[in-house]
Amino acid sequence: MTFAPCLLAAALAACSSGSGSREPGRLAEPTPRLVVVLCVDQLIPEQLERLAPWLDGGLGRFVNQGRSFRAAALDYSRSETGPGHATLGSGLLPRHHGISANGMLDREAGELVECTTDPTVLTLAPGGVLTEPVAGGSSACNLLREGLAEHLRARWPASRAVSIAGKPRAAILLAGRAPRWALWWDRRAGGFTSSSAYGERLPDWVLAWNAGWAATASGRDWECSFKGDLDGSGTAPDERAGEAIIGAGVTFPRVAPRLPLEPQAIEFQRLAGFVSATPLLDRFVIDLALEAIASQELGADADVDLLALGLSACDKIGHRAGPYSREVTDTVLRLDDELGRLFALLDERLGPAGWIAALASDHGVMELPEALVERGVATRRLHVNETRRALAAAREALGERYAGLFFGLRSGGDGLILDEKQTSAAGVDLAEVRELARDAYLAAADYVEDGYTFDELASSGPPRDAFETLARNCFRPEHEVDIVLRFKPWIVRDCRFGTDHGSPYPYDRRIVLSFLGPGFVAGTSWERASPTDLVPTLLERLGLPAPADLDGSALD
Ligand SMILES: [Zn+2]
Repeated sequence: MTFAPCLLAAALAACSSGSGSREPGRLAEPTPRLVVVLCVDQLIPEQLERLAPWLDGGLGRFVNQGRSFRAAALDYSRSETGPGHATLGSGLLPRHHGISANGMLDREAGELVECTTDPTVLTLAPGGVLTEPVAGGSSACNLLREGLAEHLRARWPASRAVSIAGKPRAAILLAGRAPRWALWWDRRAGGFTSSSAYGERLPDWVLAWNAGWAATASGRDWECSFKGDLDGSGTAPDERAGEAIIGAGVTFPRVAPRLPLEPQAIEFQRLAGFVSATPLLDRFVIDLALEAIASQELGADADVDLLALGLSACDKIGHRAGPYSREVTDTVLRLDDELGRLFALLDERLGPAGWIAALASDHGVMELPEALVERGVATRRLHVNETRRALAAAREALGERYAGLFFGLRSGGDGLILDEKQTSAAGVDLAEVRELARDAYLAAADYVEDGYTFDELASSGPPRDAFETLARNCFRPEHEVDIVLRFKPWIVRDCRFGTDHGSPYPYDRRIVLSFLGPGFVAGTSWERASPTDLVPTLLERLGLPAPADLDGSALD
């Protein structure tokens, strides 16, 4: 870690008194009382560069005063939200923390399951539409290792941790297995909710906030906050080919539902859905974060607390309109304001030296395919019928080789799945079946570059190429598909509008990674950096030892 030279005198004083320094030559800072971890879903580094002149809020503070790692990228293949948040929150690769994909195959049941689904817990009632808990919910049940909240609590047993996000997997996985509360926006019930993994009933400060959101959102149309003064920002014209509908159309304003005097449940749900599709989602996360800081007294004493926030609007809007759309530009500018509001409150309550923050994203994203075609990039949208044809060819090849046997080959996640019970009952070599299916599929699918069998990914032998290394870093034997497909670059699967991420290519693996606060020297590093470095960097800043087996290391 690099320390601010202006703090040299104070640090030397600490060294000479024999306390505060962690190792010779290292200068110590006072320990902050609150750590804020921000994950902006789908925020690509270019957003902060192209919009830098207009960022004067919280994002602007990271740009101008933060220590930013401009070459940060995922060092694993599945550029998805679940693995991204779990990696940032644990300092470990997916193969070690266990969240290998958003939808993970339960090999026992043969089904793909959302990575935070937990049938043993209840979803708590946020009030309003839903006043009683309902069966089935979300938890960190699949997270195998400790996260930042647990590291803090090991050193400061009274440390408090609260995690709030627009999506359950973001809130749950960013703060690890033991936040006091993980809270997420529930678009069906309206309001922030949680599960019985964290408590039997939502705390009063959440219920009180939930009682007021609808009045704030009702009739709050989404207007574009800038009017033609963003020349040179790289924002594309509105109404581009390939944009998907947000609200009721592809242009501003997006008209918000208006609640009648005596609203029905369906009207609340429509409004909650509107919140979920617009920058109101981030605003509400920040609103609730301010409540958490006040009611939980985060940072109020010497036990270091954690506030983890998942800002999901950039992803939800970016998927539909593309990363260079007016919609995403507006979302980033509004988030800058919201984070400015948060940081002003932290400065006021804790003092500028009382808190540190990390800003990261969980994955990148691809530009709209239609816009890339205009630039001469060979890209296209893959139709589900194409994958059906390749699947049929692979089944036919299996049928010819293993006459009379049926392996139940199907698409799932980013690959192909075999019915394991049938293959083992048939007494055949499963590795051979996988190889044959992979080769036949590749021969029939011009949109796939390569495929890696379960057995190749499980092997400790030399990888075939760099992509196999990235795929091995996501390998969990109990959750892996039988054949992981590497699609060709710039292929968007199964969506007629909007764009996507999830590939192992650099455009999906680039992320934002930046640290702010006393002890972090402003500037940009182009050294290699990984999302696994976030936790060890923060631990080092706090003077805490990092577990020896973390995949990341403290950044300078
Ligand atoms: Zn994401």
